[in-house]
Amino acid sequence: MVKAIVFDADHTFYDIDVKKAYDVMFSYLSEETGLDSVLLRTVWRRHVCTILKSERSQDLNRRKREYVLDMALNQLDVDKKKIDDLIKCALELFWKTVVENLSEKSNTVATINRLKETGRFVMIVASDEYLQPLEMKLNKIFGDWKKYFDFVISSDIAGELKPSVKYYDLVAEKYGFEPEDFVFVGDSWIRDLEIPCGVGASTVLISDKKEGTPAYFIQDISELEKILDVN
Ligand SMILES: [Mg+2]
Repeated sequence: MVKAIVFDADHTFYDIDVKKAYDVMFSYLSEETGLDSVLLRTVWRRHVCTILKSERSQDLNRRKREYVLDMALNQLDVDKKKIDDLIKCALELFWKTVVENLSEKSNTVATINRLKETGRFVMIVASDEYLQPLEMKLNKIFGDWKKYFDFVISSDIAGELKPSVKYYDLVAEKYGFEPEDFVFVGDSWIRDLEIPCGVGASTVLISDKKEGTPAYFIQDISELEKILDVN
């Protein structure tokens, strides 16, 4: 009997288009520093690539947007006294634009609402987004995420990015449930489901493309109601 549902967030509940957010962020930085926005973006991208290729690519601090922007602005000789404020404002604009452009995947809020209303399941979000932007995104889609979810795990809470067994360990420890009490739901086999499947939890892949060996493969989140026998 399933006691808890653990949902991924990005591309499971909503689609994200960050292109516009990056455009807004780099044009702000360009205006404030007088530097060409293409140059800013090129230097920033080079640092992102270096980090992703390095041995410490999973290091949460180095993956922070603040960290990479700081490296890029320093390299471009931006006044050190201004860098912290510039990054803060640039990222506020970035996240505001990301959230404005989120789009709910079909039937998400209605399905989550029906699952919650049964009172049968502990409802959990396990995302490797950082907590603050994760809450902004969830609130944009659900109004107040706390109305629907009992527990949220972010990358800063887990201390690691996905795929990591920490996300499973944290929910198992918190609720004292066995693996078979959980169903994990996500859009990526490798990031969201392979590890829970390996420990014995049930898994549901929501995607247009089948990958891995999930217990269930669906294309719309509303199909969860049938899987979980919710009427
Ligand atoms: Mg995802």
